[in-house]
Amino acid sequence: MKKITIRTHSPEETRGLGITIGRMSQLGDVIALDGDLGAGKTCLIQGLAEGLEVSKESYVRSPTFSILNVHEGRIPLYHFDLYRLSDLDELEEIGYREYIYGEGVSALEWASNVEEAIPAECLRIVIKRTGEEEREIEITATGKRYEGRFFKEWL
Ligand code: ADP
Ligand code: MG
Repeated sequence: MKKITIRTHSPEETRGLGITIGRMSQLGDVIALDGDLGAGKTCLIQGLAEGLEVSKESYVRSPTFSILNVHEGRIPLYHFDLYRLSDLDELEEIGYREYIYGEGVSALEWASNVEEAIPAECLRIVIKRTGEEEREIEITATGKRYEGRFFKEWL
């Protein structure tokens, strides 16, 4: 397990972090995000989408009313919002395993709501609001796949 904390001072900077992560992402990656409402999870995922070369038409919005939005890119982005979920059954219903163990990059907002659904090996991101425009972003890589790539090449 490897961990780093990064501070950002604007939405653009958080988005930029997402772009960097998106460029380094590979097929089958799982990125689990947590943080209060307005922390910047969606903002970071917008950058992730850009790094994955998701087309502008498929621009990532906060998927308030859907659990899953799929966006085509260099690698497809599966954007989950688990805000309203509290148990695994609802996720099982949409066949989430086919996505997170599938052919794309999965980004899950409010991942800790359905902890059982999160693979042991993943990239975990926790965002804390530390000021009007300041955010503390803790990134943890678990497993060789993630530690090696994100922490050797970049951090
Ligand atoms: P979440 O998905 O975690 O609920 P959003 O990404 O939708 O949060 O919203 C984050 C809000 O905080 C946006 O309105 C954004 O403009 C604002 N913001 C201010 N500073 C930052 C920052 N450093 N990083 C990310 N968002 C920021
Ligand atoms: Mg959001």
